[in-house]
Parts: sequence; C-alpha cells; structure tokens
Amino acid sequence: GVVLLDQQNQIVYCNTTAEMQLGLVVRTDRGQPVVNLVRQPEFVAYLQGGDFSRPLTLRSERNEDRVLSIHVVPYAGNRRLMQIKDVTQSDRLDRTRRDFVANVSHELRTPLTVLAGFLETLQEIEVDRDEQQRYLALMSEQSQRMESIVQDLLTLSSIESAPPPANDTVDMASLIDKLRRDAEALSAGRHNIVVETDGMGDLRGSEPELVSAFGNLISNAVRYTPAGGTIRISWHASAQGAEFAVQDTGIGIDPKHIPRLTERFYRIDRGRSRDAGGTGLGLAIVKHSLNRHQAQLEIKSTPGVGSRFAVRFPASRV
Ligand code: ADP
Repeated sequence: GVVLLDQQNQIVYCNTTAEMQLGLVVRTDRGQPVVNLVRQPEFVAYLQGGDFSRPLTLRSERNEDRVLSIHVVPYAGNRRLMQIKDVTQSDRLDRTRRDFVANVSHELRTPLTVLAGFLETLQEIEVDRDEQQRYLALMSEQSQRMESIVQDLLTLSSIESAPPPANDTVDMASLIDKLRRDAEALSAGRHNIVVETDGMGDLRGSEPELVSAFGNLISNAVRYTPAGGTIRISWHASAQGAEFAVQDTGIGIDPKHIPRLTERFYRIDRGRSRDAGGTGLGLAIVKHSLNRHQAQLEIKSTPGVGSRFAVRFPASRV
C-alpha cells in the first residue's frame, strides 16, 4: 500500500491496497490528518517522532491477525511517502521458528537435567550396588529419550530439505503385511489387530517416507489404546484415488485438539506421551511426508471411544 502525506501528515493520496490495510476511504479521508484515522499509539508516535531509519511493525487493530510493516520516506522537503507491506506470513514463520528452537531446547533440557542430577549424585555420595543399578537404568532411559528426540528431529529436517519424493512403485500388499507384523510386535499381544484391504492398487512415492508415516499412525494407535482394544488397518484403492486408514478403540481425542495435533511437540497429555515413549514429533513427520505425496490427513475421534486417522491419496499417486 502507498499513502502520500503533506507536511501536516494529511492524506494527499492513497491507493486501494492502503485503503484496505489501514481501513481508509480515500474519497472521504483525503485532507484528513492520518493520525486521526489510524490512532494506534505506536503508529502516532512513529509518525510524529520523525525517525524513519527503521520501519514500524504494526499489529493491525482492525484485523488482529494481520501484521503490517510501515516505512516512511520523506520527499519534496516536508512531504512523506508511506509504504505499507503486509508481513503477516513472514512474521508467523519467524514466530514458528522461535517457538521451535525454544521447544527443542526445553524438550532436551528436561532429560539432560535428570541425567546430570544422577551423575552428580553418583560422584558425590556412596550408594549401594542396587541403588546404583537403579540410577543407571533411569539414566539410560533419559539418554534414550534424548536419542529419540534427536532422531525424530533429523527425520523431520531431512524430509523438509529433501527434493520431491521418489516415484518408486510401492508394493502395498507387502507393505501392509510388514505394517501388520510391526503392529503385532509393538502391541505384544495386547490388542486385536485387524487388516482390511480391497483393490490392491499400488502407490507411487518414496517407500521409506510412506513406511514412516503409516508406521507412526500405527504406533500411535497402539500406544493410545488400552489393552484389549482393536486396531484396524485398512487400504482401499480405486481409479479415483486411495485411502490408507488406522482406526483404534483407544482413549480418543477431544475435537478442540485435532487442528493442532500435527504441530511439532503438540501433545494433549505430556506425561502420558512421555510414558508411552512419544516425542510429540510423530504426527509432524506424518504430515510432512504426506504433503510431499499430495495426500491429505483426516482425523476423526471421539474421546473414550477411539480415533480414525485416514490418509487420502489422489489418483495420480495410485
Ligand atoms: P507423540 O510422540 O506424543 O505420540 P504425535 O505427534 O505422534 O506425538 O501425536 C501428538 C499427540 O496426539 C499425542 O501426544 C496424543 O496426545 C495425540 N494422539 C495421536 N494419536 C492418537 C491416537 N491414536 N489416539 C489418541 N491420541 C492420539
């Protein structure tokens, strides 16, 4: 957006984009001091302060999730040209990046603190052999936890920076068979694992990425379903597209959490996820791999009844 101001900061001209960004109407607002129309204190102070060496970042008052960057360039003596850029997107990316670094540090610091605490104890006091063994077991648990977090982070970053996925033909019959065996091993007889397939079309894509995405959905189903529950793995393919789904009879998810589940480190119950060996990165990895295959993830769930995670592939991938 562009606004031209005279020496009294009155509007001489503004284009349609600026009208939308600042809520101005050029027809009626021409000749008005702009600070009477855009009254946000930080904007008024910026304009009257006269130091335009840096742009002003303004969170729009009219439209709360828009962020504007305003840059004033003096011209023709006392006149000013105000340039307005919508930086909502880059502001959001910036925030995501900052949150991510803070989250990673926090996630790693917790096990690290525990490890350091035990190490210090072992160095400082005499403990008997049993006690020592107990400490060592706890320390090894924490170092494994850090290892899973780092492993998941590496997976995530390798998918993010990788070129588009391979276009291999993935043999779904043997993949489903492998997934079933993995599910059984993970469940160790605690769940009833059911496989349902029709139309054995194959997928085009990167096998390791698809295995990791499907495997994550299955391991979640196993981890969040109490013993005695059922886990149903299904695959349906047709000329219109294909669906891979994992349905469980587990603890379920309150609908308010569903839109955020694929965010990195988002967990409904931190303690429960940790006890189940989760890192909070599983569904972020799933979402990324699926995006790369133009697939959509649909989550349906009822607390206390169970969840269904379905992945839809377009016909071009089948
Ligand atoms: P985690 O490593 O914590 O399992 P994920 O990214 O895989 O991380 O999942 C994020 C959160 O979504 C989990 O912490 C859990 O609260 C919830 N969740 C995922 N799958 C299921 C499921 N099948 N049933 C119930 N809750 C689930």
